[in-house]
Amino acid sequence: MTDTISARARNPLAFLDAEIEDLKAKGLYRRLRVVQSEQRSRCVIDGREVITLSSNNYLGLNTHPRLRDAAIEAVRRFGAGSGAVRTIAGTMSLHEELERRLAEFKQVPAVLTFQSGFTANTGVIPIVAPEGAVIVSDALNHASIIDGIRLTKAERKVFPHSDMDGLRSVLGEVRAAPGGAERTVLVITDGVFSMDGDIARLPEIVDAAEEADAIVYVDDAHASGVLGRNGRGSVDHFGLHGRVHIQVGTLSKAIGVLGGYVAGSEALREILIHRARPFLFSTSHPPAVAAACLAAIDVLESEPELIKRLWQNTRLFKAGLARLGFDIGASETPITPVIAGSGAMAMKLSDRLFEEGVFAQGIGFPTVPDDRSRVRTIVTAEHSSDELKTCLTAFEKVGRELALI
Ligand SMILES: *Cc1c(COP(=O)(O)O)cnc(C)c1O
Repeated sequence: MTDTISARARNPLAFLDAEIEDLKAKGLYRRLRVVQSEQRSRCVIDGREVITLSSNNYLGLNTHPRLRDAAIEAVRRFGAGSGAVRTIAGTMSLHEELERRLAEFKQVPAVLTFQSGFTANTGVIPIVAPEGAVIVSDALNHASIIDGIRLTKAERKVFPHSDMDGLRSVLGEVRAAPGGAERTVLVITDGVFSMDGDIARLPEIVDAAEEADAIVYVDDAHASGVLGRNGRGSVDHFGLHGRVHIQVGTLSKAIGVLGGYVAGSEALREILIHRARPFLFSTSHPPAVAAACLAAIDVLESEPELIKRLWQNTRLFKAGLARLGFDIGASETPITPVIAGSGAMAMKLSDRLFEEGVFAQGIGFPTVPDDRSRVRTIVTAEHSSDELKTCLTAFEKVGRELALI
């Protein structure tokens, strides 16, 4: 007993060491890979030149000359940082210009930007789902949605992934319960599911929500710049303008920079300015970020061939993996999971691919269920067909070696 106490007194954080040992024992311990070059289809990671299949840089925008120039120009004109939160002195003309451009692009009355997609969700959800509301959430929604829900005092109901009967039965139960007719109901879904690459069944979700008088909230992080005309997202992809009340997007993935935004009504924007906590209490984007995002919208509008190339590469790579016999799930987008089984096997697959010159991150529990651990691949518009063939050759070699095919 005294031994335990003194050990704890010496290191009150000893339980962290135990947790690390546990991760190591399960084969889930990771060191961070370090990118030592530009983030392109070929980059230098941990001292080795590899082809990367793990970046969200879908269109290659984070090294696009127009974004670079816009960022540099903004630093020269406005400096390195914004100096304050948006509600005090941190709203610069570039922030408002970006919001106007995004609202036009998304064809909605108003947009408000956040520091990231993550803070957009944690900021917005508690405001649109107040105490007494019910949130109806897809089982595979992103961690930032789950955390946003945790910050509310609303009731939470989860429906099985993309199960439209499940969604309708939850909505029916909520409305039929005593007092249910009066409640605010929020249906929330990823537009593209980040670990599986499937697209939400948005037309059916919207129909079900309309029948139940529910708000529809779509997180388009992996759809921004990927789906819809010029990358306008899943609402545009399905032609559902005006029927989805709240769209969250990210500026950190295909847009190539950093940030999140919410697109919706003027009233939504105004109330968020008064109430959304990350907006009120965390400093706004540096000028270079806003300027580079503005340049990215120009590129989306003027270079549609980037999105065309992204989808050509998607078809080529998926067909190749399927031909080799891998379990690639049910993806419909540039995200393609290669299911490995256990977490340890996914990490092993990722490590061996790296030795063969291909970087594709292994992903295990808690991000995905342990027995569906995987290597998640994302092709971009920048990959050449030769690079993708090289990746497929590496997958074939390592897949055979590990008896996955
Ligand atoms: C990546 C992601 C986010 C977070 O976006 P960041 O801008 O990186 O913070 C939010 N939601 C979903 C569905 C995502 O895939």
